[in-house]
Amino acid sequence: MATVKDWTAHVIKQAEIDKYLVDGKDFIDEEKIFEEIEKGKNPDKQRVRDILQKSLEIKILTPDETATLLNVEDPELFHEMQEAALEVKKRVYDNRIVFFAPLYLSNLCVNSCKYCGFRAENKEEIRHVLSMDEVREETAAVIDEGHKRMIAVYGEHPKNGADYIAESISTIYSVRRETPTGNGFNNIRRVNVNAAPMEIADLKKLWRAGIGTFQVFQETYHRERYAELHPANTVKGNYRWRLYAMHRAMEAGIDDVAIGALFGLYDWKFEVMGLLHHALDLERQFGIGPHTVSFPRMQPAPGSFLSENSPYLVSNDAMRRVVAVLRLAIPYSGLIVTAREEPNLKRDLLTHFGCTQTDASSKLGIGAYAKKLKQEENIEKVQFMLGDQRSLDEVIRELANDGMITSFCTAGYRCGRTGDKIMTLLEKGVEGKFCKLNAVLTFREYLNDYASPATREIGEKLIEQELREIEATPFFSKNKLLPTFRSYYDRIARGERDLYM
Ligand code: SAM
Ligand code: SF4
Repeated sequence: MATVKDWTAHVIKQAEIDKYLVDGKDFIDEEKIFEEIEKGKNPDKQRVRDILQKSLEIKILTPDETATLLNVEDPELFHEMQEAALEVKKRVYDNRIVFFAPLYLSNLCVNSCKYCGFRAENKEEIRHVLSMDEVREETAAVIDEGHKRMIAVYGEHPKNGADYIAESISTIYSVRRETPTGNGFNNIRRVNVNAAPMEIADLKKLWRAGIGTFQVFQETYHRERYAELHPANTVKGNYRWRLYAMHRAMEAGIDDVAIGALFGLYDWKFEVMGLLHHALDLERQFGIGPHTVSFPRMQPAPGSFLSENSPYLVSNDAMRRVVAVLRLAIPYSGLIVTAREEPNLKRDLLTHFGCTQTDASSKLGIGAYAKKLKQEENIEKVQFMLGDQRSLDEVIRELANDGMITSFCTAGYRCGRTGDKIMTLLEKGVEGKFCKLNAVLTFREYLNDYASPATREIGEKLIEQELREIEATPFFSKNKLLPTFRSYYDRIARGERDLYM
């Protein structure tokens, strides 16, 4: 195993950065972004409405159009924007919300990002890398909450490099838990990964282990600010190694990639533009945009004071704008709001602003699921503090009350409906139809196996309504999908698991 010094010196492969330059340039050009934002100021009402019309036709917006929307201040016009964003979400994703659970496997890290509790400089942090037995215990506890999708999270360290990540993905997939009725089992059906940028050869190892989505956040797209927050002598200090992490992932065969920026580090309008340019460059170079986009807001972290002192903190109101604009600008990408946010804002972003994915019952401490540790009980092993510590059941109930159905669907990825294939199907409105059926099938599983009586009561009403809609949708009968769907639904109700369309 490489020493920390060796790792830091050798992990970056310059050739795997420079190969993605277009006309000798990176796709982030700060001057150009500032100009775009400036040009979009004081937007004309009609121009904004024309842009909204383009979004409603489910088309990706240009940087100029996106910058125009970012500059809308007029409350009435913003209300129109919000309504359009919701409509776009409805057309692509309907009323489905996808849930996942984060699993932290290692807080060892060679880097020293100023905002993170895992940074090497933080000597208060108790470090631990989960053994494969501990990974099994944690996974079992997550499955027992009712989860089917996981995002595995790792610091950057030779002890948890690509081989460890690949082994832990396989270990997570291997865990089976018997259902309460005993005639089926539940498991994690999709493992996404949030880890440091890697070289293509390492990314191929994750692909072979069955990774779902590979997620890396750029943190900030602004080079100078990036340099202030990530010491130059660390791996993460190399902005450009990170900038092309997803280009390399695509090249390694991982066609579901997820981008993000940590909001609060720099100006939020600039970061939205950075995310857009990133999405556009992936489209340009690989024909596929990001599977999801994240915009986590910086939270208090043990030993770090940046979350109180940054001059760029983002208000709740600005977060609503971020989500509305992203929904309109990149209509096919999922938008993730995590349990970093307080319950009220999270609910609002999911039900009124176009977010499509979230987590619940999340524990950030290493080993915290199996031991059922509360955040306050293992503060020295967490990365940052959560704003929403409610159980999965509570959040599902709240959303069901708002008419949103929880989906644990993982079918797309297992049927090869990923990357450009899923994007084409989404564009044609076909994937959304399959998602509806699979949302109902997985919600049925959840209601049978894990729902509290209160959630079951609300959930049953919602599922009845969904079944009526499915029966009345011509697409399903025309494509002869109903008999199979009905039989799967009945078999799941009788205790079988993991039947999908
Ligand atoms: N070590 C890898 C990396 O940095 O890419 C992956 C894991 S890191 C634990 C995952 C993400 O957590 C980071 O990309 C960062 O955006 C986010 N994060 C770090 N500190 C945070 C904080 N104080 N509040 C909210 N999110 C934070
Ligand atoms: Fe390490 Fe990632 Fe935290 Fe930076 S954000 S200190 S790289 S775990």
